[in-house]
Amino acid sequence: MKSASQLFIDSFMENLIKKNPSEPEFHQAVREVLLSIYEYIEDNPHYIDSGILERLTEAERIIIFRVPWMNDLGKIVVNRGFRVEMNSAIGPYKGGLRFHPTVNLGILKFLAFEQVFKNSLTTLPLGGGKGGSDFDPKGKSDNEVMRFCQSFMTELYRHIGPNTDVPAGDIGVGGREIGYMFGQYKRIKNEFTGVLTGKGINWGGSVIRPEATGYGAVYFTEEMLNTRHESIKNKTVLISGSGNVAQYATQKVIQLGGKVLTLSDSNGYILDPDGIDTEKLNYVMNLKNQQRGRIKEYADTYGVQYFENKTPWQEKADIAIPCATQNEIDVNDAETLIKNGCICITEGANMPCTPEAINQFIENKILYGPGKAANAGGVAVSGLEMSQDSMRISWTREDVDKQLKSIMKEIHQTCLKYGTKVGGYINYMDGANIGGFVKVADTMIDQGAV
Ligand code: NDP
Repeated sequence: MKSASQLFIDSFMENLIKKNPSEPEFHQAVREVLLSIYEYIEDNPHYIDSGILERLTEAERIIIFRVPWMNDLGKIVVNRGFRVEMNSAIGPYKGGLRFHPTVNLGILKFLAFEQVFKNSLTTLPLGGGKGGSDFDPKGKSDNEVMRFCQSFMTELYRHIGPNTDVPAGDIGVGGREIGYMFGQYKRIKNEFTGVLTGKGINWGGSVIRPEATGYGAVYFTEEMLNTRHESIKNKTVLISGSGNVAQYATQKVIQLGGKVLTLSDSNGYILDPDGIDTEKLNYVMNLKNQQRGRIKEYADTYGVQYFENKTPWQEKADIAIPCATQNEIDVNDAETLIKNGCICITEGANMPCTPEAINQFIENKILYGPGKAANAGGVAVSGLEMSQDSMRISWTREDVDKQLKSIMKEIHQTCLKYGTKVGGYINYMDGANIGGFVKVADTMIDQGAV
């Protein structure tokens, strides 16, 4: 027989799926949070009575728009643009823009939903949102990317602002894209404001913002390992992806004395048994950020193995940090990682592990750091960038890094507070979900029926 909590969750999910059909990632993200927080809200029924769950799962506003742009052949191409403004209880909507052909409304709703909890955990006054387009920057010239970004911002500008909604980067949106979009916003609005984060250092950006998500994920890993009197030093690490988060996670692991064995992209992964050192990482950064090449070229250059159309999870290592995309670790991967002696999984990406994989980690008492806690460093430094822009000041690298480290420590503390179970196992997923929920839910109650 099903328990009362199971019946409640099933019925809530049935309604949610009816209202939001064909959005499996959004359903997955909501179910995960419900499973984590249900016991807590059962003890605090005023959250149910005040409709907090229904409100949290309905976006405050969603904007969907046409993005027409001209390619280098003079042909007009049409993409679809989105901005999901999920929740502004504790601050302006904040969350990245993703440019990738797989982008659709369901993916952005899952990301925006996750962002609300993540931003709450950072301790900063940030609401949650997410946006993007099914535009694929891969294989496009700089001019094509610029024309797309200008067209995208020509519609988006009217919905965002430094006190309303402050987007940042995500998959496919790095410094180049933020620059083109910022330029267009400034031109249309005739004002220089901190409307986007991840900006260049010369025009309002924060030092450490490019590094922040990857560094933060590694700081969080170190915090988790410390609870078991372990550290990253001399540990082997599997990293997936080779974009922004993967690159700086690799850099921080190297700095802390660990050895990164793998990197990947959507075509396959490389395995470097000697470890990716600083010189090889510089090669990857140039390859990915300037040449816009494929990770396979690393294998050709350094004479290591390349595995086409495979993910790195079959390799043996102490730690895994998935930094590519959602659902990249399934239950088979999880079983293999555990069998191979992996003691810690940190989500650099958003929702990279399937629910069945997460269950495996938790049942086996592995250290498992969910994305909304572990990768919150990026949005945290975005929050610091917003503060610097408002005050027209800039902090040093040391200042920002120190604040980032201290925020990751606080997030870890929140996870301990809400996630430590009888017997001492720390369920970071419950900790992050409940910790993120309480602040937003209490604020929504304070603000009335909003
Ligand atoms: P980038 O675009 O810089 O890099 C993404 C990397 O992941 C690339 O190597 C890309 O390979 C690979 N990848 C993307 N989609 C897929 C796919 N479907 N299958 C396999 N590989 C894929 O993005 P980021 O590094 O910024 O983002 C990575 C993850 O981290 C995302 O989940 C993002 O939401 C999350 N994140 C990012 C933050 C940030 O500050 N940037 C903040 C918090 C979370 P290829 O080049 O072949 O597409």
